[in-house]
Order: sequence, then structure tokens, then C-alpha cells
Amino acid sequence: MLTEELQSAVNNGTMLPLMEEFYTIQGEGFHTGRAAYFVRIGGCDVGCHWCDVKESWNADLHPPTSTDVIVEHAAKHANTVVVTGGEPLMWDMTLLTQKLKAKNLKVHIETSGAYPLSGTWDWICLSPKKNKLPTQTVYDNAHELKVIIYNKHDFIFAEEQAKNVNSNAILFLQPEWSKKDEMTPLIVDYVMNNPKWRISLQTHKYLNIP
Ligand code: SF4
Repeated sequence: MLTEELQSAVNNGTMLPLMEEFYTIQGEGFHTGRAAYFVRIGGCDVGCHWCDVKESWNADLHPPTSTDVIVEHAAKHANTVVVTGGEPLMWDMTLLTQKLKAKNLKVHIETSGAYPLSGTWDWICLSPKKNKLPTQTVYDNAHELKVIIYNKHDFIFAEEQAKNVNSNAILFLQPEWSKKDEMTPLIVDYVMNNPKWRISLQTHKYLNIP
């Protein structure tokens, strides 16, 4: 249990439950191949059964960390910062993004969109989940829609989500890692038949980097 003071700092975004932070290469989506400092915020209640970061779900396990400290670490490493989770939009991202941008960093987010948008972002990657659909603010502001393909029904879900997102969003289909051998050939066919979509692969997993 957090003290009242810490809880209030987390609630207003002065502190955030930080799970981990690391400098690596963005492996997925539009910015694949770009060096970036990843900030993984704890807390997620979306509950995807194939989630590969289930340790992130319980925010109480991740220490409230000052946004000043997160920004100081990030600024040492990269000019692009990717805020991920967990589901970072469970928390108010206003202060964190303001402080990162004050250091002239490019600020990206990876989100399921399950909570209303907060913060100021240079790039919003929306990866919607069937369990808890995105809020309108995230559909309206996403730069990229990245749908994870775990089974054939996910192609139908992807088309539904493409109708909801703003018309400028770039559309990606990405095989879920444990199903990649089965799903990647289907995605290849699908993209050739429906070229508004592009393929995203989890290249960091092929490269064996975080
Ligand atoms: S939204 Fe992301 S972090 Fe949350 S359960 Fe799904 S895959 Fe895991």
C-alpha cells in the first residue's frame, strides 16, 4: 500500500510506477530500427491472455518513481523515448511528456487506447485489444494502428478497428510471437490482397535484444 502522499503523486502524474527502463532499438511498427529509450510503466487491466509482460499488470509491484528521474535517465541516452507498459494511459502522462519535450526529446507511446489520451505525443501507436476497446480520443489521435494477429478472427477485428481510427493512421498487422509460424504466411497473403495494410514484425525478438 502506498502512503497517501505517494498515491497522490502517482494520481497527478508527478510520480509513475516504473517497471523498467532500457535503451534499445524499437523493434516494431512504423519506427522499427530506430534507437530509443524505453520507459515501461506498470499497471494494466486489459488482460490479454497472450500478454508477454504480465509482470507489468500489478502497478503496486512497481515503485513510484519521480518523472524528473525518468526524464534525466532518458535524456542521457537517446533523442527518442518510447513510453510503454502495461497500459501507460492508466496514468496522467501530462507531466512526463511535458518534461521529456522540454529536453527536446521525441516522445512516443505504445498503448491499447483503453483509457482517454493524456500527454503530448510525437507518435501514438495504438494497438487495440478486444477485451477493452480504445477510447475515441486515442482513435482520433493515433498515428499508427497496429493490430496483433493471434488467430484468423483478428483480421476481422483489424478491419473493424481500421474503420474507427482516423484516416491518416498507418495500418499494421503484426503476428503474435507464439503464433508467428502459423499466422505470418496468412498475414503475407492478407497484405498482398489488402495493400492498405503493412506487416510489422517483432524484429527485436529476432535480434534477441530487449
Ligand atoms: S494491453 Fe498490453 S500490457 Fe495489457 S494485457 Fe494486453 S498486451 Fe499485456
